[in-house]
Amino acid sequence: MKGFGMYSVGNVGWIDADVPTIGALDALVRPTVVAPCSSDTHMSHGGSGPKENLILGHEAVGIVTEVGADVKLFKPGDVVVVPCTTPNWLAKGAQNPISNAHDEGLMKSFKFLGAKDGVFAERFHVNQADANLVHLPENVSPEAALMTVDMMSTGFHGVELADIGFGDTVAVIGIGPVGLMAVAGAALRGAARIIAVGTRPNCVAVAKEYGATDIVSYKEGDIAKQIIALTGGGVDRTIIAGGNAETFAQALAMTRETGTIANVNFFDVTETLGFPAYLWGLGMANKSIRGGFCPGGARRMEKMLTLIAAGRIDTTRLITHKFHGFDKIPEAFALMDSKTQDLIKPIVYCDGIA
Ligand code: NDP
Ligand code: ZN
Repeated sequence: MKGFGMYSVGNVGWIDADVPTIGALDALVRPTVVAPCSSDTHMSHGGSGPKENLILGHEAVGIVTEVGADVKLFKPGDVVVVPCTTPNWLAKGAQNPISNAHDEGLMKSFKFLGAKDGVFAERFHVNQADANLVHLPENVSPEAALMTVDMMSTGFHGVELADIGFGDTVAVIGIGPVGLMAVAGAALRGAARIIAVGTRPNCVAVAKEYGATDIVSYKEGDIAKQIIALTGGGVDRTIIAGGNAETFAQALAMTRETGTIANVNFFDVTETLGFPAYLWGLGMANKSIRGGFCPGGARRMEKMLTLIAAGRIDTTRLITHKFHGFDKIPEAFALMDSKTQDLIKPIVYCDGIA
């Protein structure tokens, strides 16, 4: 079969691979609609270290083509939503109450890209299908569902980690698709004021639709200074969903005593995070620093999809570019890599594979 991925750091293209074999609990899935993620492009540039001959992609809705002997809830032909994180539920780390993303170690539940080929392939493997797959609900579109598997789950994890409550003043640094979902999640959790940091006009417009009350540009000076001035002293909660190593110190500076900084941004393997002690109140400020990886599994996806079905959130506002044809994956990937001004999230309908 054919898949799109990285031959080596900096080199992407079509890869020939064997159709994956499945175990008794697993499923084989044909993608119907997929999306590239910043993490795919980040990985293709070596952000997670060297990788070779790896099919990329971890955001998919698809059709089950084969199931293992012990799979009870799914059969060939079922339309399924595939979380980007698919824990091994037999590993103790998957029972961790904060996140199931570290089943067998750091981010080990991220099987696509981490332990095996991803979803930009004619067929992909899903471990423990009954616990990791969800049927596409009747009243949720495949496109809306596709935005839950990573973008909504990750953005909402930022909200969970920040522990946003009624009346909080919140800063969301970065309003790409992940940060936009964090804005929407913060609004659902009852935040009063939501200050969003970003510049792309489409992202700014959608941030406002999702509930951002103020927009700050990192291109117009130190965002900590701007946000402290706007709020008269800083915010209660900060979610980091973009930026660089410097952003971390800025987040500390703009967050008040007893506040929380929640990071979902993927830092590069070579980066060092450092900050002057006074920004953390000399260690006395009860400022929590948290960071985490997108949790997965069927139950979480069901909750995300239920929010869409109930009309609480419209995730399709993230989709700015639609490509038709499996062979268009490289084009969508290149667009994601170049981050044009009008881009939020591209998707690809995988027509042309059987
Ligand atoms: P995008 O690149 O689309 O968005 C990044 C945002 O950060 C943009 O709004 C950008 O502004 C803003 N930004 C850029 N530079 C700065 C800066 N110096 N200071 C402040 N803001 C800045 O990314 P995504 O939304 O796709 O992903 C966000 C992050 O989340 C990535 O690092 C990704 O790898 C990570 N991720 C993490 C996951 C997890 O489980 N924790 C899962 C999925 C993704 P502008 O509008 O100007 O472009
Ligand atoms: Zn991702």
